[in-house]
Amino acid sequence: MSIKIKRLSYSPNNINVLDSISLDINGGINTFLGQNGSGKTTLMKLISNLIEPTIGEVLINGINVKDLKKYDLSKLITYISQDRENIQGFTVFEYVEMGRFPYQNFYGKYDNNSQKFINESLKLVNLFKRKNDFVDNLSGGEMQILRISRALVQDTNIILFDEPTSNLDLKNTRRIKDLLFKLKDMNKRIIVSTHDINFANSISDIIFMIKNGKVIYSGDKEEILNKNNIIDCYDLNDYDSEDIRLF
Ligand code: ADP
Repeated sequence: MSIKIKRLSYSPNNINVLDSISLDINGGINTFLGQNGSGKTTLMKLISNLIEPTIGEVLINGINVKDLKKYDLSKLITYISQDRENIQGFTVFEYVEMGRFPYQNFYGKYDNNSQKFINESLKLVNLFKRKNDFVDNLSGGEMQILRISRALVQDTNIILFDEPTSNLDLKNTRRIKDLLFKLKDMNKRIIVSTHDINFANSISDIIFMIKNGKVIYSGDKEEILNKNNIIDCYDLNDYDSEDIRLF
């Protein structure tokens, strides 16, 4: 599977949100790291074809995402946004089942694999025992993890996680990390966006540092995540940078 981003710019109403981004996404965990407002979410939405670039293209196996049919794209890419929808009255199982939408037949019936996928996905995120509970009874952190479970049953090779640990406590953050590593072992292409340097340090293979809509540094984590790059990426001064500790 190849994912290539070529000269991607996004400038609605002449506001330069993203400026000529070119990069390749390879195996392992790829992280878009940068300040709030640097353009990470916009880049993820462009990759997922949720918005259209002003210039440039996203190619998956050589095909422009714009030219893929919606259902074909849904079997290739899952984008897990930060937005929390206000859903009530569904069981945990029913909620996750919604992720199988690309595999419904003409009559809205899910294919034979759906049941298996849903149960396995719930086991993977440790929510199987709660499959008959109503989602209304889950905590915010559990709900965030359940949204990931719903995305997993979509069974795509490419998964984008937009700020997956925002608002999560230590334990749930740990669960997300474990999940990311499991997905990596399953050879999924994983893209994570975060502003959290320590989180990026603990999960990433490759880092793309993004600042003001541009990729300013990219490469192996060990090479990229150094004090000078961090100071540049986050506009830190000497005083702020005393607090940089990677652990
Ligand atoms: P991040 O995910 O890094 O926090 P975003 O991609 O959400 O950043 O946003 C980058 C910047 O671009 C923000 O300042 C945002 O307000 C702006 N932006 C994004 N989309 C639009 C748009 N359609 N029109 C105007 N400004 C936008």
